[in-house]
Amino acid sequence: MIGPRTILFALVTLVLGWLAGALLNYLADVLPQTRSFSSATCPSCGTKRTVLDFLLMRSCRSCQTGRSRRAWIVQLAALIAVPAIGILPPPALGFWIALVVFLYLGVVFIIDVEHRAILHEVSLAGAILAIPFGLWLNGWVKTLIGFAVGFGVMLAIYYFGILFNRWMSKARGQEIDEVALGFGDVNLSGILGIALGWPRIIVCLFSAIVLGGLLSGLYILVMILRKRYQAFTAIPYAPFLIIAAVVLLYMA
Ligand SMILES: [Zn+2]
Repeated sequence: MIGPRTILFALVTLVLGWLAGALLNYLADVLPQTRSFSSATCPSCGTKRTVLDFLLMRSCRSCQTGRSRRAWIVQLAALIAVPAIGILPPPALGFWIALVVFLYLGVVFIIDVEHRAILHEVSLAGAILAIPFGLWLNGWVKTLIGFAVGFGVMLAIYYFGILFNRWMSKARGQEIDEVALGFGDVNLSGILGIALGWPRIIVCLFSAIVLGGLLSGLYILVMILRKRYQAFTAIPYAPFLIIAAVVLLYMA
């Protein structure tokens, strides 16, 4: 039987989902451009976008440019994800804390996929958010070790990547610009170390590296089969780190 409580729950979570989608789209639009909560503008003509424009997914009032494909994907994904989190929140977090954490990870995910970058300002905000969260969830010892391992392991991989690039550049007699792992990934891994704590951060790192490796292996295979393979295609690690972290937060 569908009672009034179920209907209310569905309505509230669907509205929250739509609001979350609009917020994610706003942040993913403005943060890479201005690094602050500036007003959003149309990418084609620069006309300002209002809050209502975001909520109603309106096209630009001046040049009629419609919203991007990403905007629609994010809006729909949030509309499905928020009620799903409402039905099945991570047991240790509950709905509201999970919502804040997943919104943050969502912003990092979208910007990394779109721009291949994790902004330092976003990392700083993440650290500020993660410290009280980690202390509350794991206590200070696990939080501290989690940070040291998350940041330290990725920092080591980061420097190894630079050395490897230098060595390959010499061997091949040409510069390799693309880095496999950016410093943003190191920061993100540190933040996740704070949030997940020890020993879950090591499971997170391991799963992300395996997942990233498997998928990029598959990608390379497809490219070889289509005869379009070129070596040293960078893997964006942030999405894999985030997927692993979300799974681990459910197991907390
Ligand atoms: Zn416009």
